[in-house]
Amino acid sequence: MIPRPDQTHDPARRAWLDTANADGTDFPVQNLPFGVMARVGGEARVAVAIGDRALDLRAAIDDGHLAGLPDETVRACRAPRLNPLMSLGHAAWLPLRHALSDLLRVDGPGPRPAPALLPKQAEVQWLLPAEIGDYTDFYASVHHATNVGRMFRPDNPLLPNYKWVPIGYHGRASSVVVSGTPVRRPLGQVKDDGAEVPSFGPTRRLDYEVELGCYVGPGNPLGTPVPIGEAADQLFGFCLLNDWSARDVQAWEYQPLGPFLAKNFASTVSPWVVTSAALAPFRGPVAARAAGDPAPLPYLSDPEDATAGGVGVELEVFLQTEAMRAGGYPPYRLSRSDALDLYWTPAQLLAHHASNGCNLRPGDLLGSGTVSGPGDQARGCLLELTWRGSRPVTLPGGETRRFLEDGDEVILRGSCRRAGSVSIGFGECRGRIVP
Ligand code: MN
Repeated sequence: MIPRPDQTHDPARRAWLDTANADGTDFPVQNLPFGVMARVGGEARVAVAIGDRALDLRAAIDDGHLAGLPDETVRACRAPRLNPLMSLGHAAWLPLRHALSDLLRVDGPGPRPAPALLPKQAEVQWLLPAEIGDYTDFYASVHHATNVGRMFRPDNPLLPNYKWVPIGYHGRASSVVVSGTPVRRPLGQVKDDGAEVPSFGPTRRLDYEVELGCYVGPGNPLGTPVPIGEAADQLFGFCLLNDWSARDVQAWEYQPLGPFLAKNFASTVSPWVVTSAALAPFRGPVAARAAGDPAPLPYLSDPEDATAGGVGVELEVFLQTEAMRAGGYPPYRLSRSDALDLYWTPAQLLAHHASNGCNLRPGDLLGSGTVSGPGDQARGCLLELTWRGSRPVTLPGGETRRFLEDGDEVILRGSCRRAGSVSIGFGECRGRIVP
């Protein structure tokens, strides 16, 4: 079932760490996202973001905190990755969330963790939060699919399957990297318009895609589908995801089996995983289907999912070029879109993925696909924003971009806002292009 708001979301609840109570922080005590960090020369630790700090869970446990939790949960919190915690399900996640909230709130019942347990986020290195066994990327934005389809088929942009089946492809887990990892411009085979034969070299049409990522929880045995009504139990939490794409390589290679080397050279995730429980106040229905669209088939249809299956995350994309850094220009916002504009909910994507008996495992990563919205300012990749490079974007300082240049840094941000709730954020997902 989809988590409901409880006392951990109470807007009156404050942290004893002042930076967690500051207006505009991504990490108030109502959020409590998980990540994995390492101090310089140290080992990987599960951590929880709070204000400008991170709570080292292993150190907190060794110091006697979180003692009331089941052994299994404590063991998972001491692991070097989030997979053991992801495998436990809501029955373990929710008591842990309450215990962490009690530990960090100003009027909590027990002793506070020592300040030494809270290194500044800048003093640690962020690692991939989970061992990602499999990565699947979907195509759940009807706005993105329509825009891209229109470039190739102006009269009939959406293929006939789109409104029936959540479209996706199997991505590559080995090249998923954490925010801040440089992205090397890939080589690839391309065939230029009008050229007789293809050529091989660095991509000239490097693009980003802003996506919402989702980490699988306990998973399902091979051969046993996940019913749509139980799919929300499988959603541990969400992250920002940049599905870097080489458009010239993609255009030449994608038929008939879909994306391959155009997309598996790097995919960047944010260090923080915002849990399904933290997102409880920001759930709602995804945008209503257009009149005449088919209803989802029964295996993708659930009343709770229809009213609360969407996740209201506003996604922003910023670009800062080498020249902008040199000239002192801040990152420039290219787009703003909302995950509630997706055509399918995360539970529908997961239930569809497992509907043939495919087994999902703890830590598997599902990408939403590029999150675009109905307006021109809500286009979640350069392919759409510049309409295949035909309408360059002008940046502060006068540069233009059709696709990404070496030295460009793409920064994704995500935030959740709703009247009556404390806003939470996802932090950042950054990647800079190197030659
Ligand atoms: Mn994608």
